[in-house]
Amino acid sequence: MAEPLFRRLALLGIGLIGSSVARIARERGDLAGEVVANARTPATLKRVAELGIADRIEADPAQAVQGADCVMLCAPVGAFAGLAEAIAPHLAPGAILTDVGSTKQSVIRDVGPLVPAGVHFVPAHPLAGTEYSGPDAGFTTLFDGRWCLLTPPPGTDAASVEKIAELWRRCGAMVQTMEPAHHDRVLAIVSHLPHLLAFTICGTADDLEGESRQEVLQFAATGFRDFTRIAASDPVMWRDVFLNNREALLEMLARFTEDAQAMARAVRWGDGAYIEDKILRGRHIRRSLIELKQA
Ligand code: NAP
Repeated sequence: MAEPLFRRLALLGIGLIGSSVARIARERGDLAGEVVANARTPATLKRVAELGIADRIEADPAQAVQGADCVMLCAPVGAFAGLAEAIAPHLAPGAILTDVGSTKQSVIRDVGPLVPAGVHFVPAHPLAGTEYSGPDAGFTTLFDGRWCLLTPPPGTDAASVEKIAELWRRCGAMVQTMEPAHHDRVLAIVSHLPHLLAFTICGTADDLEGESRQEVLQFAATGFRDFTRIAASDPVMWRDVFLNNREALLEMLARFTEDAQAMARAVRWGDGAYIEDKILRGRHIRRSLIELKQA
């Protein structure tokens, strides 16, 4: 077995993503010599102890990061500023501070200025998830064959970036470096807008009255069901993603709205060729995803 990458890995937040990393660390043995877990509520800390997925559990984030050579923020992105403020004076010199947040410009804005000199900040985002949350939701194959995007600010220590890249490779992911603003635009279209649409369509269906609403549930086996899976995601996590990728999300939503209006116009005026062309483009995208093994 290879040497552990880190002596002590502190996970601040141990839900779907944090607990998956903890489980992989336990299974492989070469991520970290020791895993320390921190969460916000006593109920989660108790559950993590029952699951036995961390070597040590700390209720106080400042205590959790003491002596850790890698600290990973795995809470909702809206909590990052408060967490960074609480841990900054307690980070070990030379430690790497990283995160898994779904938005990257906001993380660099909120956390970057609080990182003490001598601590290396390497923002990251594994593109893997499910609609489930909490420490029971994690599993060791979550990141297999998925991308993890690293968005290190200019001047970040190259050896630290490589260590975080290696951590994600050992978690099963493929790693790519990306500029943070570009990351946020790409994620706005591939992840954030689809979630916004799913939450909205479920809300629209839920607002229907009486019989129609009942039939939505009864006959949901059609297209609606796939939206409900996405819409079952954690409300706090997604609230924070929307509020922290506001510009890119609003821009993609505006473009989508224009395209939806064009589709509505084609439906109204019976423009079958336009409708068919759009559907064909959708099929083409699906086929490309399958070929890239990302479906
Ligand atoms: P999750 O399952 O809901 O878990 C969140 C964890 O953060 C819980 O352990 C929670 O503790 C803790 N937490 C919440 N507020 C906190 C605070 N103020 N201080 C300290 N800890 C706090 O969430 P997740 O799906 O793992 O997402 C975690 C991060 O990964 C988010 O930043 C998200 O954007 C990113 N991400 C998510 C996905 C996805 O699809 N889910 C994919 C990639 C990246 P309690 O249980 O005690 O509240």
